[in-house]
Amino acid sequence: MNYKIAVIPGDGIGPEVTREAIKALDAVADKFGHKFEYEYLLAGGAAIDETGRCLPDETVEAAKKSDAVLLGAVGGPKWDNLPGEERPEKALLGLRKALGLFANLRPAIMFDELKGACPLKEEKVQGGLDIMVVRELTGGIYFGERGIKDTPDMGKAAYDVELYSEKEVERVAEIAFSMAMKRNKKVTSVDKANVLESSRLWRKTVAKVAEKYPEVTLENFYVDNAAMQLVYNPKQFDVIVTSNIFGDILSDEASMITGSIGMLPSASLAEGEFGMYEPVHGSAPDIAGTGKANPMAAVLSASMMLKYTFGLSEEADAIENAVKAVLEEGYRTPDIMTSGKRLITTSEAGTLIAERI
Ligand code: NAD
Repeated sequence: MNYKIAVIPGDGIGPEVTREAIKALDAVADKFGHKFEYEYLLAGGAAIDETGRCLPDETVEAAKKSDAVLLGAVGGPKWDNLPGEERPEKALLGLRKALGLFANLRPAIMFDELKGACPLKEEKVQGGLDIMVVRELTGGIYFGERGIKDTPDMGKAAYDVELYSEKEVERVAEIAFSMAMKRNKKVTSVDKANVLESSRLWRKTVAKVAEKYPEVTLENFYVDNAAMQLVYNPKQFDVIVTSNIFGDILSDEASMITGSIGMLPSASLAEGEFGMYEPVHGSAPDIAGTGKANPMAAVLSASMMLKYTFGLSEEADAIENAVKAVLEEGYRTPDIMTSGKRLITTSEAGTLIAERI
């Protein structure tokens, strides 16, 4: 099959790790007889330097015409003094909106070989960890009405509105349940229904979607309890589905449990099969150009693309297994290096993974 992939390398280590993800995709193409066509596009600081805008229209148009988007990372100190609207990171919000990416999937997988990097006691994560956080991405308080007003005797007051429609909750819940069907058949919906009206609608709507999936167990947690349970007993979770703001916080907490940010991929999905895939980490300007970046998050993002947009599970597994093999053989980039292991560069890591595919 032929697939058209829009590649947005971005800034800092973005281009370095994306290059290694492409190596993995090329190895998959060779092995399984697919054709991946890459179209390289500008966004972030690189786009500002070239065109004066962080997200040129051409990038959006080309991304829309592609089958999926692979993104590195954007941003860096060079552009830090620009006003908010013109900063490279604004390109991410623009892409999410233009491409209708309403669900963010962040797997927090702890590879057994890296359990030393987990900040929790070993018994809490015995046998590894595999949690999928599904975060609503285009609604809620980050997109609601906001403002500042003067009060008669309390100085200024500011507000941000958390607003969710049934439709918005339904579609993200659908993704969580269908994901759970392919995993351990458990969904934990996280809200604050003891206090918030929007959470009560969230909970009711998720329960309605759950009726369509009798094989999946639904559990409801208040967000404060969920935050606690994630460090107390992380192994109880399979799929977590939650709102934009709660997901923002909980997905960072879940990923920290796994140890290294250089290992974590993510997917942002639209209606249908389309998705944008990117590592969770940023552009890491402190190590850009040094060959120290861990490309595994980017490589695993490519694997998620194969699985969720192209429906190529076997090919996706081939990438994941290759990453595991490289770790098992003791190869480590500096961020996950421990004594007795073999230190490798970004590009060596990519080549080793591609060879094992
Ligand atoms: P960061 O994720 O770039 O870096 C945090 C720390 O983790 C740094 O010490 C970095 O060296 C390390 N790190 C990150 N990725 C790594 C990898 N693959 N291998 C090894 N080490 C890695 O976050 P930051 O420093 O807060 O942000 C730097 C820039 O990236 C900022 O401009 C920020 O706005 C931007 N950013 C972009 C995205 C994105 O594009 N999705 C996400 C977060 C931050």
